[in-house]
Amino acid sequence: MFDLIESKRALTEEVANFVQEIVVEKVKEIEETDEFPWFMAEHFFKRGYLTLLIPKKYGGFGGTIMDFCTVVEEVAKYSASLALLVIVQTVGTLPILLFGNEKQKKAFLGDICANHRLIGFALTEPRAGSDVGSIQMIAKNNGSTHILNGKKVFVTNGGVSHLYSTFAKTNPRRGKRGLTAFVVPADADGLMVGKKDDKIGMRGIPSTSLSLKNVEVPNFNLIGKKGEGFRIAMETLNRSRPAIGAQSVGIAEAALELATLFAMKRQQFGKPIAKLEGMQFILADMAASVEAARNLVYKAAYYLDQGKKTATKLSAMAKFFCSDMAMKVTIDAVQVFGGYGCLKSRPLERLMRDAKITQIYEGTNQIQRFVVAEQIIKEHLETYDRYFRKELEEMAWE
Ligand SMILES: Cc1cc2nc3c(=O)[nH]c(=O)nc-3n(C[C@H](O)[C@H](O)[C@H](O)COP(=O)(O)OP(=O)(O)OC[C@H]3O[C@@H](n4cnc5c(N)ncnc54)[C@H](O)[C@@H]3O)c2cc1C
Repeated sequence: MFDLIESKRALTEEVANFVQEIVVEKVKEIEETDEFPWFMAEHFFKRGYLTLLIPKKYGGFGGTIMDFCTVVEEVAKYSASLALLVIVQTVGTLPILLFGNEKQKKAFLGDICANHRLIGFALTEPRAGSDVGSIQMIAKNNGSTHILNGKKVFVTNGGVSHLYSTFAKTNPRRGKRGLTAFVVPADADGLMVGKKDDKIGMRGIPSTSLSLKNVEVPNFNLIGKKGEGFRIAMETLNRSRPAIGAQSVGIAEAALELATLFAMKRQQFGKPIAKLEGMQFILADMAASVEAARNLVYKAAYYLDQGKKTATKLSAMAKFFCSDMAMKVTIDAVQVFGGYGCLKSRPLERLMRDAKITQIYEGTNQIQRFVVAEQIIKEHLETYDRYFRKELEEMAWE
């Protein structure tokens, strides 16, 4: 349905052409070397894909969440890693975009656009993954500055970013309500980047730990209000989760296309395996899953762009539904390929490894289901008050 929107179709075509011209021939190299593709980042910057949500007045692309998802899906069909590059840059800018004041936006977002700066998002810690409230990094006020101490892990683009949107406790007694957001420059004294993680997927886009030892940042770098960090992190992830859905859809589309083409070529029992009923059922299920997932992504994006109330629920649904779908579809695609699916020389095993990561980052799928359940309980309680209170109270429960 969303494919029918003219502006979306035009952007899809533009990205598809860019991917064919620039990205495709480098995918294997990025995968094998696991080196950060600086040349590619430059191309993405020039196209505006690394400033997607930043308004034009700061030098950005000036796009919507729908545009964000469109770019991510198209890129992910060929390289989930490069789609992650687009995602993490957007996630890093969102705290400033949503909660920064005008001067901060001009300074940080202007710098990102003009000087092609990369920005990471440093939330997770060794003891605080899903449980963001147990973050231990401390930020102490020191007059006109704050001094940060602590450690972050799994920071995507760690070591290659110029800035990090970082979250630390300004009031450790208040749990998640004591969290505050800061922009920390990568060259700040006391910031040390750990060894690059050797990940199963998303090769080429590094993740590292960051250790902060008495890192002093000016109060100008404090984003939003003190104690607002948890809300800033959640509002940010709320807007980026559909993009993880879009990345998953892109991965699954690639698997579906490869599986279908292989099944048409591969002959067994005297005919292409694509003509065997058992194979057709697998291919049809894959295609229907991709289509359903894609529609969920763009509905969530549309609702976020429109500021609709139920956007949070749809955003979390898009994240877990699409990434679970991508995991299943890539595994099924390997099945269609038979023994050839198990060879590292074929792209399917990469798609399967990349899909696994989409189920975990930006909040695991268990956490997304929790978000959805909380939202539907709230919504249904409202319905209950409006329509069913009388009926339910009259029911005999015993
Ligand atoms: C490749 C990669 C890139 C990443 N990039 C970033 C980044 O740029 N910035 C950043 O801040 N973080 C990043 N992360 C971290 C990621 O967001 C966390 O790994 C994720 O939120 C889960 O945290 P955890 O690993 O500590 O797992 P845990 O929270 O310890 O969870 C372990 C398991 O327990 C389950 N679980 C936990 N709590 C509950 C619950 N209440 N109910 C049911 N099950 C539960 C989880 O679902 C999971 O299966 C990245 C991770 C990866 C793998």
